Amino acid sequence: MPSSPISLPIRSCAVGAVSPTGLRWVRNGLLALMLPALAVAAEPQTPPDPALETCLPRLRDEAVRAGVSGATYDRWAMGLRGDASVLPLLDAQPEFRTPLWDYLAVLVDEDRVRDGQARLIQWRDTLQAVLRRFGVDPATVVAVWGVESDYGRSYGKRPLLDSLATLSCGGRRQAYFRGEWFSLMKLIERGDLDPLAEGGLTGSWAGAFGQTQFMPSTYARLAVDFDGDGRRDLVRSIPDALASTANFLAKAGWRTGLPWGFEVELPAGFDPGLAGRRAKRPVADWAARGVRRVGGGDLSAGMPNDTAAAILLPTGLQGPAFLVTRNFDAIYGYNAAESYALAISLLSERLRGAPGLKAAWPTDDPGLSRAQRRELQQRLAARGHDIGEIDGALGPATRKAIVAEQQRLGWSADGRAGQKLLRALQ
Ligand code: CA
Repeated sequence: MPSSPISLPIRSCAVGAVSPTGLRWVRNGLLALMLPALAVAAEPQTPPDPALETCLPRLRDEAVRAGVSGATYDRWAMGLRGDASVLPLLDAQPEFRTPLWDYLAVLVDEDRVRDGQARLIQWRDTLQAVLRRFGVDPATVVAVWGVESDYGRSYGKRPLLDSLATLSCGGRRQAYFRGEWFSLMKLIERGDLDPLAEGGLTGSWAGAFGQTQFMPSTYARLAVDFDGDGRRDLVRSIPDALASTANFLAKAGWRTGLPWGFEVELPAGFDPGLAGRRAKRPVADWAARGVRRVGGGDLSAGMPNDTAAAILLPTGLQGPAFLVTRNFDAIYGYNAAESYALAISLLSERLRGAPGLKAAWPTDDPGLSRAQRRELQQRLAARGHDIGEIDGALGPATRKAIVAEQQRLGWSADGRAGQKLLRALQ
């Protein structure tokens, strides 16, 4: 997660055990937000990591056994300064619980919908070619792009080789990160990536990078050259990035033409014990149990009657309910969090022109879009709070200001900002 939508961008690690976005379901629609991953700005020149001096020569043989040439290792690994500031992020505990409605308010906001619709037009021919080759529709591919890097605006500022070297030499997941680090060097060796290109090679602290935030090993496995220049460049080639995202989803089990799912209405007395992404039943079975499509219509329209589908209740019986298919699972594979898959799915619907959700989330204080977050920051700054850059990301300085204003208003000071606080400051 490169930046963070919640400040996100983040990243994400496509398929990795580490979620660079640092977002996870907790329970009842609450997410744990690993604030440090979001709030720590990349330091262009951190002090050299002393552990690397002995570690780097020691790992050379292991790298060569993994397929990195000695010359590549000597050129791109030896002499790395590392970045010790990534190590604490491995064990960082969530500092805030982010409600699902806040997470979605940021990721599926009007700006991202408008930008995505413009990208659908701008890249129409490429997206149609991607659809023909991989079977994944344009809105889904563009939604991933929009959530992962805000359409290429934000994909992480940390020096990738340094971060991965440090994580390969210290911390509790060295074997995993060595694999990623070696994969990255092999991508450089084969000419897909050039660390000397303008802007360098940067990404999230955990190694996800590029327009669609692949980890290096995922990149090695699934990236494709779609613009035909002979290189798989997911940093600077948008056609390569869009096609690689579609390839990822196709390999994750995407079924062409099948919807990810849709919002549904449940019959009175529905047993919530039947819900859960893995608890799939034929869609006809759900229809027989009284599950209805929001807005009416046949529950199984557009899909075979025996299509396996599950009922998702992100916030329990209170709040929106969804019927989801294997395509939702494919998106989940990109970044293993149901909140994430829901954000991509709902953004893709908005990109297709669909309205938002019918049911409301169970809160009387809905979340803020990025534009509203910027307005909140401006109003906090106008009241004398030092919150730094007005960027729509609610980092520690903004949280502190929010707490101060909550205290002034006599509210519970939890550091969360929703529509109520914005209105109070307007
Ligand atoms: Ca290419």
